[in-house]
Amino acid sequence: MGRHRGAGLGGGHDEREQTLNQLLVEMDGFESNEGVILVAATNRPDVLDPALLRPGRFDRRIVVARPDVKGRLGILKVHTKKTPLGQGVELETIARGTPGFSGADLENLVNEAALLAARADKDRLEMFDFEMAKDKVLMGPERRSMVISDKEKRNTAYHEAGHALVGKMLKHTDPIHKVTIIPRGRALGLTQQLPIEDRLSMSADAANDHIAVMMGGRLAEEIIFGQLTTGASNDIQQATDMARRMVCEWGMSEKLGPLHFGKREAEVFLGRDFNDGGKEYSEQTAIEIDAEVRRIVTENYGRAKQVVLDNLDKLKVLADALLEYETVDGVEIDTLFTGGHLDRKPSTWASAGAKVPPEKRPSPAERPSRPSIFAPPRPLPDPEKA
Ligand code: ZN
Repeated sequence: MGRHRGAGLGGGHDEREQTLNQLLVEMDGFESNEGVILVAATNRPDVLDPALLRPGRFDRRIVVARPDVKGRLGILKVHTKKTPLGQGVELETIARGTPGFSGADLENLVNEAALLAARADKDRLEMFDFEMAKDKVLMGPERRSMVISDKEKRNTAYHEAGHALVGKMLKHTDPIHKVTIIPRGRALGLTQQLPIEDRLSMSADAANDHIAVMMGGRLAEEIIFGQLTTGASNDIQQATDMARRMVCEWGMSEKLGPLHFGKREAEVFLGRDFNDGGKEYSEQTAIEIDAEVRRIVTENYGRAKQVVLDNLDKLKVLADALLEYETVDGVEIDTLFTGGHLDRKPSTWASAGAKVPPEKRPSPAERPSRPSIFAPPRPLPDPEKA
């Protein structure tokens, strides 16, 4: 309701603007001793009408950012108030291990943990439930029912091992939380990194290393199997986005300097500058930006390649461990890389999936289609006959 008046294509006298006008008039009518406090919330402070923010109206602004450790602990305490917690549950540890989580994420975490505990017939939540719930919130639900051929599994194992290897070997990366080849959400496998503490800013080194880690997956596949797959498309996109932001937003390119090169998409949406929207830079600069983005990505690709080639033994050890145990965490990767062995049983999913030979899998055409929940569309009545 508080959106900038006169914006957009709808004209200036729609009911939304009339309501805003009336609100502004009413707010001016409050006496300072009436004891009326008006509180409003928005997630788009950039499109607010300036009249709303004048002194005497909404003149105090409180920014609610993502919670820090202390905030997360407080939020966890609120959401676990009615949840029976076991002896070993330390909310401080959970708060410390969930940087970047929003309040809703934490609520979801407690909820998922409670569901997992209930499914296991426990009457109390344990640390294990929180750990599993965290994976689910971070990486999406596991899809163990998905049938995957051995070949695809091997591909995925090497792909994820590549990410993890580069992530471990470079200096400015976030620690690896977990690597898995169990399909989760829409991904066939996942390497989850988790910062040790709340990250408020990012150095150029960290940005470069992040791009290198993104490239690690594709490189491992390329080096081991000698061919490229479509599995790396999301990685490539993320790496390119990061490189573009380094050049256009963070001024991390020496060639282009500390300038902001942006598009005015937000303002076009507002309708304020409808006609001069679009790029704020010349075609020549656009060419230079593209060249810089390409240079950053290829340079980090080269760095990642060197890391993978120098550590092929580690890559193989980790990929084999993934094929055997399907999920390996950061501490276990350290064990593997220092020549140790993992002390646990091989997973059942990896071996169960292996029993189905790839040629037995129904092709998309043979696969029975799900019955639609909607009735088939009825033909429209013929107006001639009616
Ligand atoms: Zn990947």
